[in-house]
Amino acid sequence: MNMKASKPLPQANTQVDLSNAETMKCEQCESTLFTTSYIIKRISAIVSPTGQEAIVPIQVYSCEGCSKVPSIFIKAAGLEENLEEDSSIKQTLI
Ligand SMILES: [Zn+2]
Repeated sequence: MNMKASKPLPQANTQVDLSNAETMKCEQCESTLFTTSYIIKRISAIVSPTGQEAIVPIQVYSCEGCSKVPSIFIKAAGLEENLEEDSSIKQTLI
């Protein structure tokens, strides 16, 4: 009997050996600890598909030591590289 039940499911990725993976370090202080933060995008009513202003959070990681957001997240969020100079960005909402 040959039942075709044992099809390997593609849940891969759990078998990656993380000890060989590159550890991300803060570009500024070389810390390896990061905390989650959100960049908030505001979509104006003019371009929003609903016709209302929308608030869209984008999760990024920021350094636990110096709060710098790695540039790869800044680019992914469509922000300029000089974000870290503007430390008030977390408070722009309200
Ligand atoms: Zn840092």
